[in-house]
Amino acid sequence: MRLRPKADWHKRNYLTSVLIPSLFTKRSGDHEPPEFPKLKPGEICITWIGHASFLLQTHEVNVLIDPNWAKWLKVIKRLKQPGFEIHHLPEIDFVLVTHAHFDHLDRRTLRKVAADQPIVVPIGVGNLVHDLGFQIVHELGYWQSVKLGPIEVSLTPCYHWGARFLADLHRGFGGFAVKVEGRTIFHCGDSAFFPGFREIGENHDIDIALLPIGAYDAPTGREVHMNPEEAVRAFTELKARRLVPMHYGTFRLGYEPMEEPLERLLVAARAQGIDDKVLVMTEGKPVVV
Ligand SMILES: [Zn+2]
Ligand SMILES: [Zn+2]
Repeated sequence: MRLRPKADWHKRNYLTSVLIPSLFTKRSGDHEPPEFPKLKPGEICITWIGHASFLLQTHEVNVLIDPNWAKWLKVIKRLKQPGFEIHHLPEIDFVLVTHAHFDHLDRRTLRKVAADQPIVVPIGVGNLVHDLGFQIVHELGYWQSVKLGPIEVSLTPCYHWGARFLADLHRGFGGFAVKVEGRTIFHCGDSAFFPGFREIGENHDIDIALLPIGAYDAPTGREVHMNPEEAVRAFTELKARRLVPMHYGTFRLGYEPMEEPLERLLVAARAQGIDDKVLVMTEGKPVVV
C-alpha cells in the first residue's frame, strides 16, 4: 500500500486525458421523482443517490450518508445526474459523513439537508459542518459509536486520508456500521484494501456492505481506493451477506473508463462464486432489503 505518488505519476496527463474530455461529455441520467415504498417494521429501504450518497429508510427513520448533489467537484464535472432531485428527499432524521473529501462532504448539499437534526462525522471534521444548521455534531473516533433514536452508528477504520485541502491532515476519515432494525449496513467510505476489513467483520455482523469500486487508477498513482477485485476480497473478509458497489459512474476521479469498475466487479464476483450476492443498484431506484 502506498499513499505517496508513484514515480511516474506525471507522465500521464489527467487534465488532457480526463478533465477536458469530461467537459464535453453530456451528463447522463434522468430525474424522475422517486417512489419510496411504505415500510413495515423490520424492512430497510436503500436508495443509491449516486457516487457514495445513500438514503437508508425504515418505518421510523430516514438516514442520509455522504449526500452530494453537486454538479461539479471544483473542476471535475459530474457525469451522471443524482438519482433524484434534492427536494424529493423525505424528512431526514440523521446525516452521516465519512470524511471531508469534496465528493463525500458537500457543504451546499448539507446546508439544504440540515433541519436541526444530528450529524455524525469523524474526529476533526466537525468544524466543516457546525455552521450549516444541524442540531448537534457527533465526532467519532474509530470503533466509537453513538445511539441516535432507534439506530446505532459506529465509525469504522479505513486506509485513506482525510485532508480536504493540503495542510488539514488532522481530519479523521472512516466508514460507518449502522445498526438498524436488528441488521447492520456498512458504508465503507473510501479505502484502499487493508487488513482492517477482517477486523470490521469481526466487530460487526454485516448484512449489506456498500463498497467503493472506482477511482483506483488515480491521477497521482496513489493507492487510496480499492479496485473491483479488492472490493470482492474486502467483501469476503467482512463476511457480509450482500455487496452493493458504489463510488463509480458519477465523477471521473481516476483514469479508468466510467464503465470499467462495474464490469470488472461482475467478472471478479463470478470468479469468486459470489455473483448472487452482488446487488447492483440504479441511482434513484429504492430497493427494500
Ligand atoms: Zn476520499
Ligand atoms: Zn471518494
